[in-house]
This record gives sequence, C-alpha cells and structure tokens, in this order.
Amino acid sequence: MPKFFDTHAHYFDEQFESLEGGADALLSSLFEGTLCCVLNAATSTDDSLAVLSLANRFKGCYGAVGVHPENCAKEESLAAAIQTLKKLLSLPKIVAVGEIGLDYHWEDNPPKDLQREFFTAQLELARELNLPAVVHDRDAHGDTFDLLGRFPDVTVVLHSYSGSSEMARQYLKNPNRYISFSGVLTYKHAVQTVETAKLVSADRMLLETDCPYLSPVPYRGKLNHSGHLPFTAERLAQIKGMSVEEIAQKTTENAIRAFKI
Ligand SMILES: [Zn+2]
Repeated sequence: MPKFFDTHAHYFDEQFESLEGGADALLSSLFEGTLCCVLNAATSTDDSLAVLSLANRFKGCYGAVGVHPENCAKEESLAAAIQTLKKLLSLPKIVAVGEIGLDYHWEDNPPKDLQREFFTAQLELARELNLPAVVHDRDAHGDTFDLLGRFPDVTVVLHSYSGSSEMARQYLKNPNRYISFSGVLTYKHAVQTVETAKLVSADRMLLETDCPYLSPVPYRGKLNHSGHLPFTAERLAQIKGMSVEEIAQKTTENAIRAFKI
C-alpha cells in the first residue's frame, strides 16, 4: 500500500493537546502507519514558528508559512510579516507560502482591502522565492480567482477547494494549479466538490485533512487527523474509478512535485 501525503494540517492546534502525548505521540504513530508526509500550514507569523518546530522534530513534516486572511489585522505590519516569512522560507523544510487567501465569510473578518493586500504581497513573495502557495478561499471565489490570475507562473494549491466545478475547470487550464480535497468530499451536500473531483485529472489532485477540522464521514464533527485520510481517498477513488492504492500513489507524487520535495 503506498503511503499518503497529507498536504494540509494544523498539528500545532491546541485541540491536539487534549490527546495523551499530544500531537507528537499521534504523529509518531501515524508515521509508522500509512502516512509518509504532512504539510503543516501556518495561519500567522506566530504559529509559523510552531510549523517550523514540527518540521524540525519529524522527518515527514514539512511546513507552509504565511498569514491567513482572518489573522492579517493581528500582525504588527505587512512589512514585518513579510520579513519574518522570508527568513523562514529560506529553510529547507519550509516549502510553501501558506495558508494565504481571502475569507469573506464572517462579517467581523478583517476588511477586504487589507486581506487583498496581504494576499497579494504573499503571492509576490512566493513568486520571488519560486515557491508554491497554499490558498484558502472562503466565500471569496471571484476575487480569489481574479487575484490568482495575476500570478499564472506561481504554483498554487487550492486547499479544500469549495468553488464551482466550472471555476475549477478554468483554474486547471493552468498547469501550475492543483486542487486539494478534504473530508468535505465525503459529505452528502458536497455536490460541487464531487463535480470538481470528476473533472480534475489524476496528476493535479491532492489529499488533505485540514486537521483538526473537517473530519470525513464516519468521523464528521470529531477531532480530525491524518489517520482519517483513507476515508477521503476511498471517496475520491470511487468518483475517479481508481483504486485507493492508485489514489495514494498519484496524490503523493503530485504533492512531491507541487512542493518540490
Ligand atoms: Zn487550514
């Protein structure tokens, strides 16, 4: 059985502290099983350091560092954030800028202008350093699509993609775009996500948990971790008419290519 690459996780999240031995004990046992690699995605300059620490402790852990749209108003300044990120991105196991993007879901989220400013500057950083970007888009599909259109040369992972299948088709015209599927793919209402899974070619799809969030069925609502990845893989295999082994192999190969590992 080929091993899985979890391309989006947050093992530094305090929810893992409730487990015996915390995230470290969990990761140790997962790496002995079906997990080969994890990309932990930061959401601020603060937890970018936690991402680095995980990458230093575990051979299979890699990191994305960046400022999430919901956190951009908490940073000291954009310039200071970019400076911190740039230093971290020079380290060998910090392989992507992320998670960055736009989130218009909550009314009290930072102003759209500020979100777009952080998003643009971090995409420019990815371009400058020739590194991929991990993108979060919640209820901001049009603006995210337009902004990414200015960075066709940057490799982009659309994390837990939630846009329409038509938009996915547009994204995928660019060979530098990857679509990442989370546990959402197993949910009953995930009609659009299933449509997107149908059209994405085998060399452009990725798997992720977004743990501790988005647990797949039958663990929906519970604490998520990479050990649940096979449930999402099974659903993807069913949709694509492939075996779970093929899905594991393809998505792992794709992740290694996308993150230049
Ligand atoms: Zn995330």
